[in-house]
Amino acid sequence: MPLPGPRRHATSTSSPTGGSTALELELRDVAKRYPGQREPAIPGLSLTVPAGEICALVGPSGSGKTTALRLINRMVAPTGGDILLGGRSVLDRPANELRREIGYVIQQIGLFPHLTIADNVAAVPRLLGWSRDRIAERVAELFELIGLDAGEIGERYPAQLSGGQRQRVGVARALAADPPLMLMDEPFGAIDPINRTRLQDEFLRLQQLVGKTVVFVTHDVDEAIKMGDKIAILRRGGVLAQYASPDEILRRPADAFVAEFVGADRALKRLGLRSVADVALEPWDGVRAPEPSIPRGANLRDALSELLGTGGDLVVVDDHGAAVGVLTLAAVSALIGDDRDDEHDRHGVGA
Ligand code: ADP
Ligand code: MG
Repeated sequence: MPLPGPRRHATSTSSPTGGSTALELELRDVAKRYPGQREPAIPGLSLTVPAGEICALVGPSGSGKTTALRLINRMVAPTGGDILLGGRSVLDRPANELRREIGYVIQQIGLFPHLTIADNVAAVPRLLGWSRDRIAERVAELFELIGLDAGEIGERYPAQLSGGQRQRVGVARALAADPPLMLMDEPFGAIDPINRTRLQDEFLRLQQLVGKTVVFVTHDVDEAIKMGDKIAILRRGGVLAQYASPDEILRRPADAFVAEFVGADRALKRLGLRSVADVALEPWDGVRAPEPSIPRGANLRDALSELLGTGGDLVVVDDHGAAVGVLTLAAVSALIGDDRDDEHDRHGVGA
């Protein structure tokens, strides 16, 4: 993660105004068996999401991701275990009060079709009885935060927006009352790939500003790798297969299921988490033309693709376009080789 990064080990973080920006979320052996089901959807799930971190909850269809989210905001009652938000059980709290404290974003059907966009965003603050002025101020602030023009779309209805715009509004609405926890259920799943990438980037940028605790559900492992400070991988039957950072999961999948789920190209995916600046560069001789070039901030997966495409070395340039070194295929291969040795050592195989 760039910039401030996740705030580790804190159970809560506060906003400059003194409100609670984020709270730690803890699931303690939470179980759910739906009536009439032979097997539980979730037999007993334990995991802690530190305040201000994004947990990407990923797994195949039917592995219990949506059930886990619904347990957290009590749309579904657990049949065992406990859920703590900021150290306090959510189970003995009035469900409607709790839901106002939790931002919830789902795909498509999230917005009230008969309310304008501005009124959609204002919905929870209104329920909370905020003054007109405070609501107007907050709505304006949120439009700015998500990069939408209030004058242009505030008075429109959801049907008059593109899918991408609707999802942005959905995120704004969920953030409206500054909740300490955001639950997002495949929020960008129905959006075309280009807009999806844009929404992911925007959400990560937004998260740098708001620092919420987020559970982000997806069935797409690449999205999980991109969005999660940590990734929780569920297997069928609602069992947690691994909970670790994207790098750790790609480097050391806990078992064959995780290895298969993250894909045979995990070495490449892992390169996508690192930048050219992480490689030992050859010095630039100052003579050869500074091209083809690659920015030192580029990720190594893209750099490798460039290297293979150009068939030669790449001159690495800084933010001002000045050459700082040369990236070779051999250097990238060496890095992948180091990872492989590292992995073998840890598993006690190989040298
Ligand atoms: P995911 O979101 O990972 O696709 P779900 O949480 O929706 O998975 O579902 C997990 C399991 O629980 C599935 O087997 C599903 O059929 C079952 N399930 C989900 N909701 C209900 C329900 N309301 N009643 C009975 N079974 C359900
Ligand atoms: Mg689901």
